[in-house]
Amino acid sequence: MQKVLASYGVASRREAEGMILDGRVRVNGQVVTELGRRVSPEVDLIEVDGRVLESREHFVYYVLHKPIGVVTTVRDPQGRPTVIELVPVRERIYPVGRLDQDTTGVLLLTNDGDLAYRLTHPRYGVQKRYRALVRGVVSEGTLQDLARGVFLEDGVTAPAKVQRMRQEENRTELELTIHEGRNRQVRRMLGVVGHPVISLRRLAFGPIGLGSLLPGQYRALSTQEVKQLQ
Ligand code: URA
Repeated sequence: MQKVLASYGVASRREAEGMILDGRVRVNGQVVTELGRRVSPEVDLIEVDGRVLESREHFVYYVLHKPIGVVTTVRDPQGRPTVIELVPVRERIYPVGRLDQDTTGVLLLTNDGDLAYRLTHPRYGVQKRYRALVRGVVSEGTLQDLARGVFLEDGVTAPAKVQRMRQEENRTELELTIHEGRNRQVRRMLGVVGHPVISLRRLAFGPIGLGSLLPGQYRALSTQEVKQLQ
């Protein structure tokens, strides 16, 4: 058992022995404190501190071009289509963070809980780049306000990168890069400065962009891309 734990990167073999003796390891639901117990990660359900052991080789990473109208959850009690249904893979994956039902663009999905946690935790500050089409003509002053930070009900937003991409008579296309991940943050930021969002797309999540994916399409990340995320 300690060999399996070590080979799965849980701890060194010596540390794994300590974990087993401390009763932190369960096999098929039962705490096992005996060293040298034979286990097979393919057959047995092994848990360490209540978390199911998954080997590096069993981690999968996908990027989906989320289309409009699907919800970013694993199961929707209201029966709406979910992003998980768009990525029909064998593994039990879940979305990394969320996009609103009406937002399109880059959504990562994985079964790597540690990485998902790090990618969404504000402390790690992963940059997310959005393209927003908004109502009205956005002034230079407003662009600066958005970049410096605006007041939302849950506090001032952190500095952002903001760029005007295109100007029409009564609409403006902007690109915003933020590293926070508050609920509906981009829509709320633009709302409070008087430019409601008409459409919103996430162009990139950290180093991962859309490439040639069309809405509804997905692909596995390359080993290189996964390394860049780690
Ligand atoms: N900001 C939003 O307002 N919506 C999203 O889906 C993502 C960021």
